[in-house]
Amino acid sequence: MDIRERDSQGKTVCPQCGKHYYPILGERDPYIKIQEQFPSAPQWVREQLLTGICSQKCWEKYLGLKPTTRKPHARKKTVRRRK
Ligand SMILES: [Zn+2]
Repeated sequence: MDIRERDSQGKTVCPQCGKHYYPILGERDPYIKIQEQFPSAPQWVREQLLTGICSQKCWEKYLGLKPTTRKPHARKKTVRRRK
């Protein structure tokens, strides 16, 4: 499934960062599954020909895989003292 957006020059537009570029793998053969046409290409490289995501970084952002910013859940200790 090719859902890419292209500009007037035929360049692929990254939906994440808006960069205009030519995919590393060139153009794909629409009659062959992309996994079969480029079996050794990293997933994000193939994504250039599918979703138009330009890089591993944008791919991670697109999926929401940001570097972990979650802080470990800090538990407050409640110490009850009886008088
Ligand atoms: Zn991008």
